[in-house]
Amino acid sequence: MDENILGDIANASTDEFYTPIPDGYKPGKTKYVFVTGSVISGIGKGIFTSCLAKLLKDRGLKIAPMKIEAYMNVDAGTLNPYRHGEVFVLDDGTETDMDLGSYERFLEQNLDKNSFVTSGRIYSSIIEKERKGLYLGRDVQFIPHVTGETKKIFRDLAVGSKADVVIIEVGGTVGDYENLFALESARELMYEEGVGNACFVNLTYILEPHSLGEHKSKAAQLGIKRLLELGIQPDIVVCRSETPIPEKIKEKISMNVNVPVKQVIGLHDTDDIYTLPLFLRELGVDEQVLNVLGLAKKFPVNGNKKLKAWTEEVSTKPTSKEITVGIAGKYTGLRDSYISIIKSLEHCQNPVGAKINFRWIETTDVEKGKITALKALDGIDGLIVPGGFGSRGTEGKISCIKHARENNIPFLGLCFGFQMAVIEYARNMCNLENANTTEIDPKTNYPVICILPEQEEVDGLGGTMRLGGYDVFIKKNSIAHKLYGSEKVRERFRHRFNVNTNYIDQLEEKGLVFSGNAGKKRIMQILELPGHKFFFGTQFHPEFTSRPTKPNPAYLGFVKACAE
Ligand code: GLN
Repeated sequence: MDENILGDIANASTDEFYTPIPDGYKPGKTKYVFVTGSVISGIGKGIFTSCLAKLLKDRGLKIAPMKIEAYMNVDAGTLNPYRHGEVFVLDDGTETDMDLGSYERFLEQNLDKNSFVTSGRIYSSIIEKERKGLYLGRDVQFIPHVTGETKKIFRDLAVGSKADVVIIEVGGTVGDYENLFALESARELMYEEGVGNACFVNLTYILEPHSLGEHKSKAAQLGIKRLLELGIQPDIVVCRSETPIPEKIKEKISMNVNVPVKQVIGLHDTDDIYTLPLFLRELGVDEQVLNVLGLAKKFPVNGNKKLKAWTEEVSTKPTSKEITVGIAGKYTGLRDSYISIIKSLEHCQNPVGAKINFRWIETTDVEKGKITALKALDGIDGLIVPGGFGSRGTEGKISCIKHARENNIPFLGLCFGFQMAVIEYARNMCNLENANTTEIDPKTNYPVICILPEQEEVDGLGGTMRLGGYDVFIKKNSIAHKLYGSEKVRERFRHRFNVNTNYIDQLEEKGLVFSGNAGKKRIMQILELPGHKFFFGTQFHPEFTSRPTKPNPAYLGFVKACAE
């Protein structure tokens, strides 16, 4: 690279530039790949980014992925899953977008807070710095300060991870106002790092209107031209489409946006995302990216043995056995709100040898009596009650759990679902009428789920969320012990309420077993019901640690029971 550019800017004597460079930064040591989307959202940018990262890792490169979100929330914790998909929690407790879940699953690698940033976090740190006078009297501007801080975050990841390649997925679509700061930062960074040190990939969409019966590239051209207007020349264009696109379309795109035809790649829809990495390899995607970065020769494809074995292991195997899992929640209208649960169940399909069908059970309907639990659960092989907040649909969830418990239907309760199972047991087996969680009924006579006093003290505001990975200590000879094969495991949490320790003895006397806890702190983390086909609840979210080649034991136990 031309080190002078970066050197000049960093040491500029005028205060026109603001490009803070992290200590220990060596230009050219880490290279950058930016992934953006144009035309429409929802074309699988996150999956593509995950696959590309996997392919580069497969060639022996050290990879650090990052998602940069355009929204002004400081983290994803306050986002409504119905609008934005699930909140994915990292081991260090960072609440992120669901794309981080697919990075972790494809890379089979735990990520941390450095892999996720939002415009809100950047803006709030800038304002904080401004209030402390750290900009030395300068008027604080979009350029260079917002972009300067953003580039610093990209480079911090490079230094901190010591990665060969940092892959940055820019949230939103080209043409949004919100993500302009990220695109401008990418442009500046590419200029500063110099040719060969960054690669810009645009995922676009090729329309195929039914009325015309042919592919049309104009929308894609306009989307990419918007990037050119911003001063960004993409190196690679990936054309998403429903059906394979003809060569003619690639040529048109190539001609109109200055990208060589071999760097215009057609990627049509597929049913099985696990076949994607190998497919992208066949299309030469990673080869083209590394050509741009000058790394293709240094990191050649070493046969495809490992990748083929992985694909073979995780892609869905045909089976004649089918099971139906009911998921009883309140965001059942949008699959993305439960994406990690769906993935975790899918991870069990091959090991158990059964295809899983999903039944979405709207618990508000059960609650309002529009449908009985008996009817809602009719024909399912197992029930999952997922995490949740607030009272809507909870009585419906409790009725569904009661039905599953009484009728020996396999049940898996996740976080809120675990808490609902405790409430159901307290009411119907321990005679604690109207037992509840104080989250829903603060005045209940039997607060079997409540905020633990030690957590209330944390901030005096009714407790903060307990977030991220914690150890779970498992009782010997329990079902949990059999499933996990260990007395200590690490799982991820996102909750504020817990089982009230005052009721544990009463619940256990009536047969419920708390087989996992937090060690000295008596936080109950797993429940199970001996004698039932499978009745299991976790205060944690096992779906955050399940991997395609390593299904989470709680899910595996559940799916096995469903298939029996
Ligand atoms: N609302 C419950 C709590 O705060 C459960 C949270 C969840 O399901 N993630 O404890």
